[in-house]
Amino acid sequence: MILIIIICIPIIGLCQNNSFKKEYIHNLDQSEIEIIVNKGTELPFSGKYNDFFEQGEYVCKACNHPLYKSNSKFEYKCGWPSFDDEIKGATIKIPDNSYGMERIEICCANCFGHLGHVFYGENLTNKNTRHCVNSLSLKFNSLKLNN
Ligand SMILES: [Zn+2]
Repeated sequence: MILIIIICIPIIGLCQNNSFKKEYIHNLDQSEIEIIVNKGTELPFSGKYNDFFEQGEYVCKACNHPLYKSNSKFEYKCGWPSFDDEIKGATIKIPDNSYGMERIEICCANCFGHLGHVFYGENLTNKNTRHCVNSLSLKFNSLKLNN
């Protein structure tokens, strides 16, 4: 019994380090909480940034951490926004074996909110990477020309 406790404490501690920082929850409505905190997935083709290609920057909906530039967004008709690169250090990657699939979850590196999944080796762009992100996890800021 004591051995189990000793083994479990570091595991629980590790999980807590990657769980959503509750201080940002007041920025989210119920549908955003379902995706960002409860790691849900919005319905394909439902998100407002799925078919959206304006110039600017995407930040985390919960904490405003910069995540993606519009020039890394590409059209891939999978139903969710696709990016082939992130702003350096914007996300953390966590192995996700849910639903019998081996995937890599991406979370905001600041608040650990769920963004989506990243896929490699699909040969869709030169960077050979696809960040498949829920629109509900993102907020778009248009490019400030006088910046
Ligand atoms: Zn965040």
